[in-house]
Amino acid sequence: MNQFQYVRPTKQQAAIDAVTKDPSASFIAGGTNLVDLMKRGIATPQKLVDINRLPLARIDPDPGKLRIGALALNSAVADDKQVRARQPLLAQALNAGASAQLRNMATVGGNMLQRTRCQYFYDTTMPCNKREPGTGCGALEGFNRMHAIFGFSDKCIAVHPSDMSVALVALDATVLVSGPNGDRRIPFADFHRLPGDTPEKDTNLEKGELITAVEVPDGPFTKYVHYQKIRERASYAFALVSVAAALDIENNTIKAARLAMGGVAHKPWRLTAAEQSLVGKPATEESFRQAAEIAMQGAKAFKHNAYKLKMGPNAIVQALRTAASAA
Ligand code: SF4
Repeated sequence: MNQFQYVRPTKQQAAIDAVTKDPSASFIAGGTNLVDLMKRGIATPQKLVDINRLPLARIDPDPGKLRIGALALNSAVADDKQVRARQPLLAQALNAGASAQLRNMATVGGNMLQRTRCQYFYDTTMPCNKREPGTGCGALEGFNRMHAIFGFSDKCIAVHPSDMSVALVALDATVLVSGPNGDRRIPFADFHRLPGDTPEKDTNLEKGELITAVEVPDGPFTKYVHYQKIRERASYAFALVSVAAALDIENNTIKAARLAMGGVAHKPWRLTAAEQSLVGKPATEESFRQAAEIAMQGAKAFKHNAYKLKMGPNAIVQALRTAASAA
């Protein structure tokens, strides 16, 4: 691990200034991903700005929305009574992520910023455009079993690993950030990026911008929800494919739907066309299968991940079926 300076400001502006003014500085909160990256020499910040003294851990049940502070722990959010009652899909997705120990350290902001688990990204002897732009992509012709089927480029085919983010994109959340040029709000769907020619950039955050909170608007999705995660073992594994499904059902007719997938793209993958196809339909297997077929349009596999083309639609149907019977 490289040597680094360590500071713990108590004022938000001081934290932002510290990272803005130093090109090599990085925020740290729970450190559950960043410390691993530093140990392996993948991240080499010269200064760590620890933000744990900032008052950003509150969960505020505002009228019409939940405001979740960026430093709220994943376990605290998943266990929060208001979150469980008003956004049960989010609680399910959080509990599907990582291990209990990690959820007790990891923050909401850090969860969104965690980096891909592509094995070539973590192996510094291999080419990787995300770790070192211009070196190539080891996964393109390599062992790409965990990789993307949507939205990839010839520069990078990695997937985003967060479960929480799949629920947040489905629930139309908004990310609140504060930076050297003031405050701004980013729709969750625009927070993460597709790789394009710049896979080294995971998000649309600017240098020095600090996530302060996530807002999740109230909606009708309090009963018929399910987070389906398919992984290689029962706990502490990243998704091969995951699906966040939320339905508003009245008299067996779907009034509104939300669907998103994880483990399939460089960002949480919202399925708006499939959602629209469900509105007005009966909550039946046939409707779910049609939605899954629409959702998978445009998917393309690589040598080792063709199984996702079959697992994807099956997971969508399973998630919708379970959501529809969840109440
Ligand atoms: Fe690197 Fe992306 Fe290729 Fe993985 S898929 S080796 S992260 S460029």
